[in-house]
Amino acid sequence: MLRLFKGIRTYIHNLSTGEEVMSDRRKFTWMFIGFIFIHIASTVFFAILQNQLLVAFHVVAIIGYFGLISLAQKKHFFAVSLICEIEALIAVILVSFTYGSLLGYSLYCFAMIPAIFYITSTVKTLKYPTASCYIFSFLTMLCFFTVIISEPFFTIPDVLSSRPVLTLVIRLFNALVTFVFCLVYSLLFVWETKSNTTQLQKRNQQLVEVARKDPLTKLANRRSMMERLNLAMQYLKKDGHPFSVILCDIDHFKKVNDVYGHDCGDKVLVTVADSISSQLRESDFVCRWGGEEILIVIDGRLQTATAIAERMRSNIENTSVMFEGQPVKVTMTFGVAQAEISYRIEDLIQLADNRLYYGKEHGRNQVVNQDLKD
Ligand code: GH3
Ligand code: MG
Ligand code: MG
Repeated sequence: MLRLFKGIRTYIHNLSTGEEVMSDRRKFTWMFIGFIFIHIASTVFFAILQNQLLVAFHVVAIIGYFGLISLAQKKHFFAVSLICEIEALIAVILVSFTYGSLLGYSLYCFAMIPAIFYITSTVKTLKYPTASCYIFSFLTMLCFFTVIISEPFFTIPDVLSSRPVLTLVIRLFNALVTFVFCLVYSLLFVWETKSNTTQLQKRNQQLVEVARKDPLTKLANRRSMMERLNLAMQYLKKDGHPFSVILCDIDHFKKVNDVYGHDCGDKVLVTVADSISSQLRESDFVCRWGGEEILIVIDGRLQTATAIAERMRSNIENTSVMFEGQPVKVTMTFGVAQAEISYRIEDLIQLADNRLYYGKEHGRNQVVNQDLKD
C-alpha cells in the first residue's frame, strides 16, 4: 500500500516537472474512473431520494463507463469522447429537470470545459480535435443555459425542502468535484505544455549542436570558427587584443586510409582531435577546418601559439592509436600566424596555410611560424 502511494506520488511529481507525460489511454482511463466515482455517489444520492429512474440511469452509465475504458484501450478516442460528452449532458439535463439546479449538477458543465480542452488538445490520435473542442464546448454551454432558462418553468419536488441536509451534502459534493476537476485539468494542461516546451528546448539544443559541431570529431565546424574569428578580429581592432591561428594537417593521412582502412583513419582523426583539444585553454578555440585539417585560434601572440603547436606536435608524435590490435602512428605539420589589424580573416588563414605548406614541403612533422624561402 505504502509502495503504491509512493509510486503515485513519484508519478505525479514526474508529471509536474514535465519528466513524464500521461499516455493517451491513461488520460481516458483516469477520466472515466473519475466519472464512475461521481456516478456511484449519484446512485447513492438518488437511491436515498428514492428516484428509481435516476438510479437506473446512473447504474447503466457506470456499466457503460467500464465499456468506454476498454474501448479507450483500443484507441477509439473520438467515439469514447463523444459518448462521454452525450452521457454527461443527458445526466445534467435529467437531474436538473427533475430537481432544478439546487443539487448543483449543472456545475459539471464548468468542469467539462477544461477537460474538453485538455483532451482535444493533448490526445495526439484524436480525430477532429479542433471541431470536437468547439462543438463539445458549445453543447456544454447550451446544456448549462437550457438548465438555467428552463428552471423557472419546472416545479421542484418537495422532497428537497424536506431533506435540507441531504440537499446540502449533494450540492457540496458536486461543487467540490467540479472544483477538483477544474483544478486537475488546468494543472495537467500546464504540466503537459511545460513538458512539451522542455522537450522542444532540448531538441533545439541538439539541433544547434548539430549545426555547430562536426559529427565525427565533435570539434566545432567551419561556421562556428568563422564566428569566433570575426569576434577575435573585432577585439584586436577595438582593444588591440592579440590572437594567432594554427592550421595543422595530418601527414600522409591518405596512406593510413589505404593501409589500415577508412575506419582506422576515422579513429586516428578522433584521437588527434582529442589530443589537440586537451592542450587548449578555455580562451582558445578549435575546429575541424576540413578533411584532416584542424584550425585553432590561440588567445595570444605568435610565441605562445608556436609553443602550444610544438607541444601538440610532440604529443601526437608520441601517441599511437590502437586499431585492431596494431599501433598506428601519425605525425602532423603545423603552420602558425599572428593576426594583424590590417589582415582580413582569409589573409590570416592563407598565411598559416602557406607556412603549413612550407612544412609539408620540407619534411613534415614540424611547426613553421614564419615565411621561409627555399
Ligand atoms: P599530406 O602529408 O601532404 O597532408 O598527405 P595526405 O595524404 O594527408 O594528404 P591528402 O590531402 O592527399 O589526403 C588527405 C586524405 O584524408 C584524403 C581523404 O580520403 C582523407 N580524409 C579526409 N577526411 C576524412 C575522414 O573524415 N575520415 C577518413 N578516414 N579520411 C579522411
Ligand atoms: Mg594530410
Ligand atoms: Mg589535407
